[in-house]
Amino acid sequence: MSLIESEAIVLRTYPLREADLLVTLFTRAEGKVRGVARSAKKSKRRFGGALEPMTYVRAFYDVRERQELARLDACEVLESPLATEVSYARAVALAHVAELLDELLPDREANDAIFRLALSVLHALTGSEIWMPVTYFDLWLTRLVGFLPELTECIVCGRSLNGSRAYFHALADGLMCPEDKRLASSEISSESRVLAAKMFRAPVENFVEIPWPKSRASDLRKFLIQILQRHIEKKLITAGMLEKGGF
Ligand SMILES: [Zn+2]
Repeated sequence: MSLIESEAIVLRTYPLREADLLVTLFTRAEGKVRGVARSAKKSKRRFGGALEPMTYVRAFYDVRERQELARLDACEVLESPLATEVSYARAVALAHVAELLDELLPDREANDAIFRLALSVLHALTGSEIWMPVTYFDLWLTRLVGFLPELTECIVCGRSLNGSRAYFHALADGLMCPEDKRLASSEISSESRVLAAKMFRAPVENFVEIPWPKSRASDLRKFLIQILQRHIEKKLITAGMLEKGGF
């Protein structure tokens, strides 16, 4: 048995037995870890608000050999999403980040680049503007988990798509030129592709001043969500909530 201390982001909690909670953490030290917080529902003193989803914490937990679940000993809040007002839009955006991390990260595999991405996007998600941080997160996460195809050439003929119209399809792995697009493809604007290229060159803070209505890069987000859903072979609950929410 060893006690581990790590920065972590709380992804989800589920009730487990009477007063216990099953907690999924994205730890900096070990990646995604699932553990049991004993008496968490009773003992407000030990965990307080530290187990709210998307809270950035310092976690202390025990890992036992041959046991899948860790034992969560304590959590100290480093930054809480509840420190600023949680509108419905912001709640859905935070849940979206949590859902993607939970679905896409493997168990017990540290990934510092994704941890830093998640933290920087959490910081960008403190205001009422959600579409820029959500777009930035979806784009970078898709790339960091290795699912992002080349955005500058047609996957069928290899032709450069710079300056050309480009299309994507739920069942295809990249972008296609007008000649090679499939039936029922969607178009991704050249503006959105330029924006993606810019997002790969700059931190999320650089984009906070840009006005960003929902329509901006919505084609890019749709393309990314299709890629992610194809890989995890299920629908992302929060993708539908973002789509339908009137914000
Ligand atoms: Zn082509």
